[in-house]
Amino acid sequence: MQDCLFCRIVRGEIPAARVYEDELVLAFKDIQPQRPVHVLVIPKRHITSLADATEADTETLGRMLVVAGRIAVDQGSTDGFRSIINTGRVGGQEVMHVHMHIVGGQEPVGPML
Ligand code: 5GP
Repeated sequence: MQDCLFCRIVRGEIPAARVYEDELVLAFKDIQPQRPVHVLVIPKRHITSLADATEADTETLGRMLVVAGRIAVDQGSTDGFRSIINTGRVGGQEVMHVHMHIVGGQEPVGPML
Protein backbone atom coordinates (compact mmCIF):
# COMPACT_ATOMS: atom_id res chain seq x y z
CA MET A 1 0.00 0.00 0.00
CA GLN A 2 1.79 3.08 -1.27
CA ASP A 3 0.36 5.70 1.08
CA CYS A 4 -0.26 3.61 4.20
CA LEU A 5 1.60 5.13 7.17
CA PHE A 6 2.71 1.82 8.64
CA CYS A 7 3.71 0.41 5.23
CA ARG A 8 5.93 3.46 4.89
CA ILE A 9 7.48 2.70 8.29
CA VAL A 10 8.10 -0.89 7.13
CA ARG A 11 9.88 0.45 4.03
CA GLY A 12 11.97 2.83 6.14
CA GLU A 13 10.47 5.93 4.50
CA ILE A 14 9.28 7.23 7.87
CA PRO A 15 11.50 6.83 10.94
CA ALA A 16 10.40 4.71 13.88
CA ALA A 17 12.09 3.38 16.99
CA ARG A 18 12.28 -0.26 15.92
CA VAL A 19 12.53 -2.81 18.73
CA TYR A 20 11.95 -6.13 16.91
CA GLU A 21 11.86 -7.36 13.34
CA ASP A 22 11.66 -10.66 11.51
CA GLU A 23 10.56 -11.70 8.04
CA LEU A 24 6.85 -11.37 8.89
CA VAL A 25 6.44 -8.68 11.53
CA LEU A 26 7.91 -5.38 12.72
CA ALA A 27 7.60 -3.81 16.19
CA PHE A 28 8.32 -0.18 17.04
CA LYS A 29 7.60 2.24 19.86
CA ASP A 30 4.31 4.12 19.74
CA ILE A 31 4.89 7.80 18.99
CA GLN A 32 2.49 8.80 21.79
CA PRO A 33 3.11 6.23 24.53
CA GLN A 34 0.24 5.73 26.97
CA ARG A 35 2.35 3.78 29.45
CA PRO A 36 6.12 3.34 30.11
CA VAL A 37 6.12 0.45 27.64
CA HIS A 38 4.00 1.04 24.53
CA VAL A 39 5.00 -0.83 21.40
CA LEU A 40 3.09 -1.53 18.18
CA VAL A 41 3.52 -4.91 16.49
CA ILE A 42 2.49 -4.93 12.84
CA PRO A 43 2.51 -7.31 9.89
CA LYS A 44 5.07 -6.24 7.29
CA ARG A 45 2.58 -7.10 4.55
CA HIS A 46 -0.41 -4.76 4.51
CA ILE A 47 -3.55 -6.06 6.23
CA THR A 48 -6.08 -3.26 6.67
CA SER A 49 -7.75 -4.59 9.82
CA LEU A 50 -8.64 -7.84 11.55
CA ALA A 51 -11.97 -7.60 9.73
CA ASP A 52 -10.03 -7.98 6.47
CA ALA A 53 -7.79 -10.86 7.57
CA THR A 54 -7.91 -14.08 5.56
CA GLU A 55 -6.61 -17.61 5.95
CA ALA A 56 -3.42 -16.48 4.20
CA ASP A 57 -2.66 -14.18 7.16
CA THR A 58 -2.74 -16.96 9.77
CA GLU A 59 1.02 -17.36 10.14
CA THR A 60 1.67 -13.62 10.31
CA LEU A 61 -1.06 -12.92 12.86
CA GLY A 62 0.12 -15.89 14.90
CA ARG A 63 3.67 -14.56 14.83
CA MET A 64 2.46 -11.22 16.20
CA LEU A 65 1.09 -13.03 19.26
CA VAL A 66 4.08 -15.32 19.69
CA VAL A 67 6.66 -12.51 19.74
CA ALA A 68 4.62 -10.20 22.00
CA GLY A 69 5.88 -11.65 25.28
CA ARG A 70 9.53 -11.42 24.28
CA ILE A 71 9.13 -7.83 23.13
CA ALA A 72 7.37 -6.85 26.36
CA VAL A 73 10.14 -8.32 28.51
CA ASP A 74 12.86 -6.78 26.33
CA GLN A 75 11.21 -3.38 26.79
CA GLY A 76 11.07 -3.76 30.58
CA SER A 77 7.56 -5.09 31.13
CA THR A 78 8.72 -8.15 33.04
CA ASP A 79 5.56 -8.98 34.96
CA GLY A 80 2.90 -8.97 32.27
CA PHE A 81 1.42 -6.62 29.71
CA ARG A 82 -1.78 -5.78 27.89
CA SER A 83 -2.19 -6.54 24.18
CA ILE A 84 -4.86 -4.65 22.25
CA ILE A 85 -5.98 -4.71 18.62
CA ASN A 86 -8.52 -2.05 17.67
CA THR A 87 -10.61 -2.88 14.61
CA GLY A 88 -12.56 -0.50 12.38
CA ARG A 89 -14.65 2.52 13.28
CA VAL A 90 -16.47 0.88 16.17
CA GLY A 91 -13.20 -0.48 17.54
CA GLY A 92 -11.54 2.93 17.44
CA GLN A 93 -8.89 2.00 14.86
CA GLU A 94 -7.10 5.13 13.65
CA VAL A 95 -4.34 3.66 11.48
CA MET A 96 -5.77 1.28 8.88
CA HIS A 97 -2.97 -1.28 8.97
CA VAL A 98 -3.35 -4.04 11.57
CA HIS A 99 -1.37 -3.29 14.71
CA MET A 100 -1.25 -4.78 18.17
CA HIS A 101 -0.55 -2.43 21.04
CA ILE A 102 1.68 -3.90 23.75
CA VAL A 103 1.34 -1.76 26.85
CA GLY A 104 3.00 -2.31 30.17
CA GLY A 105 5.69 -1.32 32.58
CA GLN A 106 6.16 -2.20 36.21
CA GLU A 107 2.72 -1.08 37.43
CA PRO A 108 -0.65 -2.59 36.41
CA VAL A 109 -1.83 -0.98 33.19
CA GLY A 110 -5.40 -0.43 34.40
CA PRO A 111 -8.24 0.71 32.16
CA MET A 112 -7.08 2.29 28.91
CA LEU A 113 -7.74 2.58 25.19
P1 5GP B 1 -5.13 2.87 16.91
O1 5GP B 1 -6.00 3.91 17.55
O2 5GP B 1 -5.27 2.85 15.40
O3 5GP B 1 -5.30 1.51 17.53
O4 5GP B 1 -3.65 3.27 17.27
C1 5GP B 1 -2.78 3.92 16.39
C2 5GP B 1 -1.52 4.18 17.16
O5 5GP B 1 -0.51 4.53 16.25
C3 5GP B 1 -1.65 5.32 18.17
O6 5GP B 1 -1.33 4.83 19.48
C4 5GP B 1 -0.64 6.36 17.67
O7 5GP B 1 0.03 7.04 18.71
C5 5GP B 1 0.30 5.50 16.83
N1 5GP B 1 0.93 6.24 15.74
C6 5GP B 1 0.30 7.03 14.83
N2 5GP B 1 1.18 7.51 13.95
C7 5GP B 1 2.39 7.03 14.31
C8 5GP B 1 3.71 7.19 13.75
O8 5GP B 1 3.94 7.88 12.75
N3 5GP B 1 4.72 6.55 14.38
C9 5GP B 1 4.50 5.77 15.48
N4 5GP B 1 5.59 5.18 16.03
N5 5GP B 1 3.28 5.59 16.02
C10 5GP B 1 2.23 6.22 15.44
